[in-house]
Amino acid sequence: MVGHLRQWGIPSGLDRPPSSGIPVLVMVLLSFVLMASEQSIAVGLADRGYEVRVGEDILCEVGSEAVARGLGGQCAILTDENVEALHLEVVVESLHAAGVVTHVVVLPPGEGTKSFAHLEGALRTMVRSGLDRHCFVVALGGGVIGDLGGLVASLFYRGVSCLQVPTTVVSQVDSSVGGKTAIDVPEGKNLVGAFHQPAFVLADTLTLRTLPPRAWAEGFAEIIKHAAIRDPDMLDDVDALEGRDNLVGLIARNVAIKARVVEEDERETTGVRAHLNFGHTLGHAIETAAGEGALLHGEAISLGIRAALILSERKCGLAADSVARVLSSLHRFDLPLVLEAGLSDDLILETMARDKKFEAGQMRFVLLAALGEASVTGEVTLADVHETLDALRQPWRS
Ligand code: NAD
Repeated sequence: MVGHLRQWGIPSGLDRPPSSGIPVLVMVLLSFVLMASEQSIAVGLADRGYEVRVGEDILCEVGSEAVARGLGGQCAILTDENVEALHLEVVVESLHAAGVVTHVVVLPPGEGTKSFAHLEGALRTMVRSGLDRHCFVVALGGGVIGDLGGLVASLFYRGVSCLQVPTTVVSQVDSSVGGKTAIDVPEGKNLVGAFHQPAFVLADTLTLRTLPPRAWAEGFAEIIKHAAIRDPDMLDDVDALEGRDNLVGLIARNVAIKARVVEEDERETTGVRAHLNFGHTLGHAIETAAGEGALLHGEAISLGIRAALILSERKCGLAADSVARVLSSLHRFDLPLVLEAGLSDDLILETMARDKKFEAGQMRFVLLAALGEASVTGEVTLADVHETLDALRQPWRS
């Protein structure tokens, strides 16, 4: 079904800390700990600037945060079926408590939702429900909902405000910040979209606890990518992580990296924002060539990162121990590092030629001279790519 409208009433699946039976002193101390475990990052884009709030158990504050930013009246909450069952109730309640009327548009989970059909479905559902240009959109979910929700917000009545409420690792550290919105077309991913900066981003790290193990792990490909291009010391924090507790610092550190890149190059015109494509040139091609559902995006990016490291070692003199450092962090999350023999060079190169990063027939790669020193180069030859893919089929040893 495309964008069915729900009035509200859904059970919550999230275990939240108990609110009764705890002595007052402990509650006070606990609130200090929680306060300390919250961070706010400003994205400085003049009149399009906004705040990204990262914290634990803050989903219940979406409503008050919206109202504090002058948003009220009515909103459309876009979400997918998985997130609906787990996290919608808290968000709806918080918006109701803040006096906001909610209309919930539930979409199917998965990349297929970033389509013209679902874009149209969501927009028409909103029109039929009587929403107008005074409303705002809440995008509650992973990057799929964030990308579609942002695009819906940019188009509805020629543009309304969007609150991003990301619930996956990828969306918290990457897609919810920066204003890139898009849908896919059969000719390629993210080819139709708009820049539409959110009014506010609220990332509750508790929502990450309900992610299935593979979805949790794949998000670390983007975190490790951030470390490789901008913040190598962060690899120590990644390696020190135990379970899914105390994530605020790590998520906020990544948001800050993304925010600085976006500030330096909001619309990807100077080349700086393109650094975020580290590992993506071959990663995207491998993801598509592997066929739908074979590899999660982050898993393909892990392979793409290894490929970019191999190229960086050969073309830019990246030190071998730096390569090993990044690979061991990817390995820690069980992310794939070895290309399956079944994926031929021809298939991968054919897919790459259709990618929008394949500018004017020139292969553009983000490479590293050292960890934290990224640059874009067009000097990678076809022979280099063949050699790299060969090396990527070789086992990696930690
Ligand atoms: P996703 O949105 O498909 O979410 C992955 C899966 O997790 C889905 O099945 C979803 O229903 C489920 N899910 C989401 N939150 C959950 C939770 N808290 N608990 C349990 N399940 C949950 O995938 P994603 O990795 O978040 O995002 C990928 C998308 O983001 C791609 O379309 C990509 O193009 C886009 N993206 C955009 C940007 C950007 O700058 N706009 C950057 C990176 C990626």
